[in-house]
Amino acid sequence: MPRLLISADCHVTEPPDLWTRGLPEGLRARGPRVELIEGRTCLLVEDRVARKLPPLGEGAGSPERPAFWQPDDPAARLAALERDGVWAEVMYPNIAFFCTYVIEDPALQAATCRVYNDWLADRFGACERVAGVGLVPARDIPATVAELEHIRARGLRAALLPAHSDERPYNHTAWEPVWEAAAALGLPLSFHAGTGREQTPARGAGAAVVNYVVTVSGPMETLAYLCASGVLERHPELRVGMVECGAGWLAWTLDAMDDAYREHHAWVRPRLAELPSFYFRRQGFVTFQRDPVGIANRARTGERCLLWGSDYPHPEGTFPESRKVVEEQFAGVPDASAERILFRNAAELYGLPLPAAH
Ligand code: MN
Repeated sequence: MPRLLISADCHVTEPPDLWTRGLPEGLRARGPRVELIEGRTCLLVEDRVARKLPPLGEGAGSPERPAFWQPDDPAARLAALERDGVWAEVMYPNIAFFCTYVIEDPALQAATCRVYNDWLADRFGACERVAGVGLVPARDIPATVAELEHIRARGLRAALLPAHSDERPYNHTAWEPVWEAAAALGLPLSFHAGTGREQTPARGAGAAVVNYVVTVSGPMETLAYLCASGVLERHPELRVGMVECGAGWLAWTLDAMDDAYREHHAWVRPRLAELPSFYFRRQGFVTFQRDPVGIANRARTGERCLLWGSDYPHPEGTFPESRKVVEEQFAGVPDASAERILFRNAAELYGLPLPAAH
C-alpha cells in the first residue's frame, strides 16, 4: 500500500466578501455576495439566490467535519492535508463553484472568474503542494480564451469549465478556440460534477439519492461529447477530466461509445480514425473518492485515466479518514497500480512535486 496520496479534488472556501470587495464598482451589486435572508445564509448572484450555505460564523467546525467557512490560509490548509495523510492537492473553488455558471451576464461572469483567479494565485501561488485550478467563463468564448491565458500567466495549473453546457453543447464549433488555447497552454480542462445544471432537480421521496446519482453521472454525457465529436482527435494535446463523478461507469461508457460507433456507423459523423474510447484513454481522466467498482474495472479502462480525490472539505468527501478509505478500497491491488491512481497520475498531470523517495 503506497504511503503517499495526492488528492485530485479539493475545494477552498473563498472569503465571503471576495467579490463585493474585488469586482469593478459597477458590477459589485450583482456579483456573488453572501447575505442573511430570513435568518438563512444565502449566496446570491444577480437578482437571485444561487444556493443556501451553512451559517456564517458557525465556528471552525469539528476536526472530523470541517466547517464550510473554515479559514483557508496556506498553513492551516497544509496542516489539514497532513492530518488526513495527503501530500498534495488539486484545489477547486467553493463559493465560486456554486455560483459562477449560474451568472447570466457574460461580463459579470468573466469578471467573477478574474477576481477568483487572482485571489487564488495570490494566496496559494507559492504553495508548491497546491495545484490551483482556475475558473473560466463559459458564456463568451473570447473571454474564455482570455482567461485561460491569464490563468497560465498567473501560474495556475488547470481550468474549470461547467460539466454541462446545454445552451452551447461541447460539440459546437464555437468552442474550438477554447480547445486550441487549452491545448497550446498545457492547461488540463476539468468538468466538475455539479456545475452547469441544477444540482437538485428531483423533489420528494428519494430526491437526495436521485439528485446525487444524476449529478455525479452527468459527466458521462460530457465525456461522450468530447470523444465522439472529434474534439479530442483534433486536439491530441488537450487533456480533459471529469471530476468527482466516480469511475465505475467509465468502463461501460467507453464500451457503449464504441458499440454505438460500430453499430450505428451509417449515421455516425464525424468518422474518427480510431474508436471513440481510444481518445479518452489517451487524453481523459476521471476522479473518485470511494469507488471499488471503478478500481475493479481498471484493466478495462486503463490506470492512467483514474485519479483519487478526497473532495475535502465536502461532506461526501473522505476527510479525515482518507488513508483508511483508500486502504480498504485498494486492498489486494498491486502497489504499482495503486501508486498510479493515488498519486503518480496527478503529479504528472499537474506538475506536483513528489518527495525524494518517490
Ligand atoms: Mn469536488
